[in-house]
Amino acid sequence: MPYPTRAILTGHTRGLGAAIAAQLLAQDIEVLSLSRTANAELAARHPETLSQIDLDLADLSALADWLAGDTLSRFMNGAQQVLLVNNAGVLAPVGALAAQPPAQVARAVSVNVAAPLMLAAAVAESAARSGGQAPETRIVHVSSGAARNAYPGWSIYCATKAALDQHARAVALDGNPSVRICSVAPGVVDTDMQAEIRGIGLDRFPLRERFDALKRDGQLATPEESARKLVQYLLSDTFGSHPTADVRELP
Ligand code: NAP
Repeated sequence: MPYPTRAILTGHTRGLGAAIAAQLLAQDIEVLSLSRTANAELAARHPETLSQIDLDLADLSALADWLAGDTLSRFMNGAQQVLLVNNAGVLAPVGALAAQPPAQVARAVSVNVAAPLMLAAAVAESAARSGGQAPETRIVHVSSGAARNAYPGWSIYCATKAALDQHARAVALDGNPSVRICSVAPGVVDTDMQAEIRGIGLDRFPLRERFDALKRDGQLATPEESARKLVQYLLSDTFGSHPTADVRELP
């Protein structure tokens, strides 16, 4: 049976991405997901509608090779609406300039910026190439408050997330009526990434105690809460009316 809406999602194995995948699949949206590992629980629950691709998004030549194949276009074929959720992201390296190993800088820029931009271009190209009426394409970059506020020790993370915001703003100006895009900050979410933040030394991240307190005081959003707001917005009529958004400000 053809599914009118299909979604491509990165980082579906844990945290926010796993919750986004679960909510899309629960709405009978077929999902093609890309991560380095698999999500066995979701695969068992949705054997017909979840396809998992094992890919390290820091390996840009592997991603380019995969995009040169036909898996993506075959997945999109026949869809009336295609969603791309660029969720996978990494925080490291954390610390001032002299504490940023170049290989980690390259990994962060690859996963957080190059891969999402490559996927966005490939999905749009595949949609434009499909015969007949091009499917409507909706692209979400999972951004961060760190795109909009600078934090000491987070120069790489802040810069990469700001790049996603600016990409969304410029793509919106291209004015393609069949492409909607928004770079969405998901709030502060109780995931492995937050545990990683709480494990960073104060010498590398002086604001860490703020994040310790959010956890201690029960102020973190659950991945399910954040994903519900993000998916609701993604599927709404207002999606992309502004190229940046924050789930904490969405209705
Ligand atoms: P997380 O718990 O660390 O999960 C990260 C996901 O990304 C995993 O599914 C992981 O899958 C995937 N991933 C990481 N590196 C990858 C790589 N090289 N190739 C392919 N997949 C990779 O993170 P999260 O907290 O859910 O964060 C999700 C997104 O929200 C990120 O973009 C993050 O920057 C953003 N965000 C999070 C928060 C927060 O408070 N948690 C706040 C603002 C923004 P594998 O390990 O299986 O590859």
